[in-house]
Amino acid sequence: MNTMKNIQHLATLAVMLLALCASAQTTYLHCGKLIDCVSNNAQPEMTIVVEGNRIKEVQKGYAKAPADAKVVDLKNKTVMPGLMDMHVHLEGESNPKSYEEKFRLNPSDVAYQAEVFGKKTLMAGFTTVRDLGGSGVNVSLRNAINAGLVDGPRIFTAEKSIATTGGHADPTNGVRKDMKGDPGPAEGVINSPDEAWEAVRHRYKNGADLIKITATGGVLSMAANGLNPQFREEEIAAVVAAAKDYGFTVAAHCHGDEGMLRAVKMGVTSIEHGTFMTEEIMALMKQKGTYYVPTISAGRFVAEKAKQDGYFPAMVAMKAAIVGPQIQATFGRAYKAGVKIAFGTDAGVSQHGENAWEFVFMNEAGMPPMEAIKSATVTTAALINKSADLGTIEKGKLADIVAVDGDPLADMKAMLKMRFVMKEGKIYRNE
Ligand SMILES: [Zn+2]
Repeated sequence: MNTMKNIQHLATLAVMLLALCASAQTTYLHCGKLIDCVSNNAQPEMTIVVEGNRIKEVQKGYAKAPADAKVVDLKNKTVMPGLMDMHVHLEGESNPKSYEEKFRLNPSDVAYQAEVFGKKTLMAGFTTVRDLGGSGVNVSLRNAINAGLVDGPRIFTAEKSIATTGGHADPTNGVRKDMKGDPGPAEGVINSPDEAWEAVRHRYKNGADLIKITATGGVLSMAANGLNPQFREEEIAAVVAAAKDYGFTVAAHCHGDEGMLRAVKMGVTSIEHGTFMTEEIMALMKQKGTYYVPTISAGRFVAEKAKQDGYFPAMVAMKAAIVGPQIQATFGRAYKAGVKIAFGTDAGVSQHGENAWEFVFMNEAGMPPMEAIKSATVTTAALINKSADLGTIEKGKLADIVAVDGDPLADMKAMLKMRFVMKEGKIYRNE
């Protein structure tokens, strides 16, 4: 008798659970202006219907919601797809003490600050980022966000950047000789095509989503040259071939032209910074479909801090003063030449949560507001091969939706006035 009753109870429970699952939360967003990134204009008075984590419908006018649906009033806002930053480093943020932090901070310290930086990024309207290099905490943060343990953007991470010995992102640059050791492929340092394969396989094993290489010198490393080529062509070719086997794209950090030319020739997916990009390189990028991720924000930030006594070590300040001021002008030339531009800031060098300033800098250099917004939505979705799910506000896409005060098409600075953030149907910010 008891058993029968129990079975009946279980059956009732099962039916209730099924009913619950079937009726995912429905949300009606009433949008004063909608930039869906499909059309080239903002559309007035639109409704986006979100069911569960996806967009169910986009309708003209303010559609009446059924009684059990949630309604969000964005009638005095401009609504657009979740923004995407293709170049961040969530594990840290540059400060005058950055160079001693690696001796003081435990991975757990890095993890706590990474969580804060991730949350700032999400609240600024950036629902997706590529983390282009850290210690591996970036992989754990991605997993924790995906599991719903902490709030942050959807992360595609390179885990640890791949460098050559003494190159930008060799983790032991600038330390005392007895502490330098000789890091290898496991630590992301290679010196041959075979080691390139090994390093890519380590990134795969450690849970990376893509590969980052430092094809030239860099500004913030304790090394003399910020521009020189640091990979041989055959090493880059090996990275690209290995990455292809594992379904990875390859992002190449580049400042000087020779290393940049090699990277584009050997088939990397994106050029990061691209400081001294020549006309020849731009033409080749157009021909090969290589993306350019400018990071003007970082350029301006380091140029500014280079003037501040003691902010950077002298060796770094010297490089920052050369590289920093160039990037915005290079971006302007590359845009006019027709190179594909994917939005990226290098936040972590510049400050987290300030990512939207990049729109202002892009606009200053000649890119119209609608194109700047598309560079952070449609183009970025294509760069990470997620166009089926992300980048536009259309039926069937994941519900990554943000809204700002004012009209960014009239004033790009409106992008700084983020008021509403939804990621996969969940609201994280609503003012
Ligand atoms: Zn970077």
